[in-house]
Amino acid sequence: MKSLFEPVQLGSLTLPNRVFMAPLTRNRANPDGVHSELAATYYSQRASAGLIVTEATQISPMGKGYVNTPGIHSPQQIRAWRNIVDAVHGHNGRIFLQLWHVGRISHTSLLPNHAHPVAPSAIRANSHTSIATGRAPVSQPVALTADGIKETLADYQRAAGNAKEAGFDGVEIHAANGYLIDQFLRTGTNRRTDEYGGAAANRVRFLAEVVEQVLRAWDGKRVGVRISPTGDFNDMSDDNPLETFSVTVARLNGYGLGYVHVVETAQNGKGSSEEDLALSAHLRTLWNGLYVVNGGYDGPRGEEAVRTGRADAVAYGRAFLANPDLPRRLQLGAALNEPDPTTFYGGDAAGYTSYPAL
Ligand code: NAD
Repeated sequence: MKSLFEPVQLGSLTLPNRVFMAPLTRNRANPDGVHSELAATYYSQRASAGLIVTEATQISPMGKGYVNTPGIHSPQQIRAWRNIVDAVHGHNGRIFLQLWHVGRISHTSLLPNHAHPVAPSAIRANSHTSIATGRAPVSQPVALTADGIKETLADYQRAAGNAKEAGFDGVEIHAANGYLIDQFLRTGTNRRTDEYGGAAANRVRFLAEVVEQVLRAWDGKRVGVRISPTGDFNDMSDDNPLETFSVTVARLNGYGLGYVHVVETAQNGKGSSEEDLALSAHLRTLWNGLYVVNGGYDGPRGEEAVRTGRADAVAYGRAFLANPDLPRRLQLGAALNEPDPTTFYGGDAAGYTSYPAL
């Protein structure tokens, strides 16, 4: 019987346990998307994770959607990430970079020359983002042209190569939570009539082409994909999530990837419905790599998911944010620090590097 605290193999990488750190947006990078030294402390404090997945990181200036999120497209950003990766490796950790393009979830004030955000279709989200002056409704997007899609794919390739240059152990493609790739996948946001829209096989094409770009820099086992089949965050919807995501997983199977990472909850912290869990269990049967689940797990539920084979690993978000030594605490059944939502997004060391280990 498998345990959450048992090693697992990700290609040539041995993960010492199956407690992953979920990607967590913290909005503490500099306005130019360059991380400070504090981020190296934050991530290296959490190096006991089986695998750290970094906060979502924009692949290009057009991929940015929130204030003070990090990027992986400038030499300064790459250098800052190299410093973080070295710190994590210095503490015997393993770390994947999450590659992010926000698509329509952005604001003209965040984009080059006040450009409008890009999306599969020109459908504005009923959603908010954070800009220099505070919260603001997202801007009206424009539909990507065929050339725009090609440029975006080239941005993914460059960013994947930059992640390699920064020394990461691998990358996770962010295809969840209502950002660009998810906007292509789901019917509520994709009304295209070209080969990227319509049937599920067409809606998954953009993700497949992103994967192909990333595989030019990385071995398949060093690549994960994160999806949120039933998530409604960022005004997302789909006519048939079972079909959309079955086709998605089947398509991804062809690439020999390391893992798929499934957000099982509609909203963080609210737990998963029976339907969410049933869909996830179905996708697990279709998938030929490691299966990582996320969404409201505590220690016992995570242990049960691995023991019963429902998952190979469990990603913890808020719990890891507040407990730098989470794997040890879960194994001991020790008390956990409570996460403080007022310090999740933006700010300084308080609520970032200040949570104590046991
Ligand atoms: P929330 O509404 O407080 O935050 C949603 C988003 O707003 C976050 O992406 C965050 O970057 C931004 N934000 C909020 N307050 C901010 C502030 N003061 N300064 C800068 N940015 C700020 O809701 P939540 O409960 O934290 O998250 C809701 C859902 O969104 C969850 O399902 C969560 O998992 C998901 N989420 C996704 C991402 C991502 O995919 N990159 C990031 C954060 C949260």
